[in-house]
Amino acid sequence: MSIVVVGAGAAGLMAAISAASLNKSVILVEKNEKSGKKIYITGKGRCNITNACDRDDFFENIVSNPRFLYSAFDGFSNWDMYAFLEENGLPLKIERGERVFPDSDKSSDVIRTLENKARELGVDIRYNTKVTKILSEEADGKKCVCGVETDRGRISASSVIVCTGGISYPSTGSDGDGYRFARAYNHEVTKLYPSLVAFKCREDICGRLQGLSLKNISISIYEGGDSTKPLYTEFGEMLFTHFGVSGPVILTASALLTDKLQTPKDLYIDLKPALTFKQLDDRMLREFKEGNKSFKNAVKSFLPVRLLEIVLEVSGVDPDKSVSVVTSAERKAFIDALKGLKLTIISTMGYNEAIVTKGGINVRDISPKTMESKIVKGLYFAGEVLDLDAFTGGFNLQIAWSTGFAAGRYAVE
Ligand SMILES: Cc1cc2nc3c(=O)[nH]c(=O)nc-3n(C[C@H](O)[C@H](O)[C@H](O)COP(=O)(O)OP(=O)(O)OC[C@H]3O[C@@H](n4cnc5c(N)ncnc54)[C@H](O)[C@@H]3O)c2cc1C
Repeated sequence: MSIVVVGAGAAGLMAAISAASLNKSVILVEKNEKSGKKIYITGKGRCNITNACDRDDFFENIVSNPRFLYSAFDGFSNWDMYAFLEENGLPLKIERGERVFPDSDKSSDVIRTLENKARELGVDIRYNTKVTKILSEEADGKKCVCGVETDRGRISASSVIVCTGGISYPSTGSDGDGYRFARAYNHEVTKLYPSLVAFKCREDICGRLQGLSLKNISISIYEGGDSTKPLYTEFGEMLFTHFGVSGPVILTASALLTDKLQTPKDLYIDLKPALTFKQLDDRMLREFKEGNKSFKNAVKSFLPVRLLEIVLEVSGVDPDKSVSVVTSAERKAFIDALKGLKLTIISTMGYNEAIVTKGGINVRDISPKTMESKIVKGLYFAGEVLDLDAFTGGFNLQIAWSTGFAAGRYAVE
């Protein structure tokens, strides 16, 4: 009897390849008309396949349940994936932050390489076929998988590997079927949240600054009210969008705080984190000495024009006031706005825009070595459907490669 793999995304393609390379007959069932619709849009169409960091750094980038991944990662690591793709004819390159991409910068080449390998190993790929139910029978007092029900009929199987993904970007096919399959057999599905996702903010200044990207800033997020201890502080890059903020530091914050963002939070942006209050004040006074000009002219070198307008507005200092009459309180108000531009985060954006789903099948119900369910024999889960997620940088795809590889290998045994 064959192994059935449900979902031809990253985890499913890898699970099918891993099982078929052990000479097992594999049927890969995909409801879309083609494989890897989500892989196609990864890395802005370039596919950040994995990350070339060392093992310790790798696990520092896994946000949920890193320990669960130890065995799968050691069985098929970032470097195993690197070697696998190059051996199968896809040259790779390593970019800033150890991010690995195909040399061609085309995610379609990653999909083609995986699909060709699967076909070469004899995997029977069935498109336009949606799995609707996982079938089981009782044996020795335990539930054992015996196949799947699809919208095109039943398929018998010795093992079933569910690789249906999370619920982010549902238009790519990942719309939560795997959670339904898991719950039907009493696996716990932890609370789900959109993660690696932009924030919606209350203030309209975001829309006015839409498209402006800031490097070398730092952000701090506070509970709000009188709280003095930040929930999160980070230095890096961010971007204003028509509804709020996005960019690397924001996405990272979302991965850590998404469960706390059910209520509004205060976001402070330090636009000049490398300079102290005194250094900024001294610089302003030096500008003031260079002749009698308007305040806005004296501080124009501090920020890009669009941002300067907003900071001046927030500070409440009259931009046209002559520097000869600007008070120390007004200088302070300007520096306060510069070092703590305040926004209110109302919520995260939704699943349609989230790079990953945080939460998923509780890993306590799954063997970390084999990815087999502890509840149903012969039923395996791999990829984003599990309660595993990571920061950006190729780590989420590596979760799919490693867990898919383990599931395929042990489903054969
Ligand atoms: C915009 C975007 C950019 C990203 N960029 C990166 C990146 O550069 N690097 C990185 O590491 N990660 C990135 N990610 C995250 C990464 O793509 C996912 O974590 C990864 O694809 C998850 O793989 P998966 O196989 O578990 O699920 P998916 O890739 O979502 O695959 C699930 C498959 O299952 C199929 N399916 C679902 N239900 C059924 C059913 N009932 N019957 C049959 N088939 C079914 C779906 O159609 C789909 O093909 C990105 C995500 C997004 C949305």
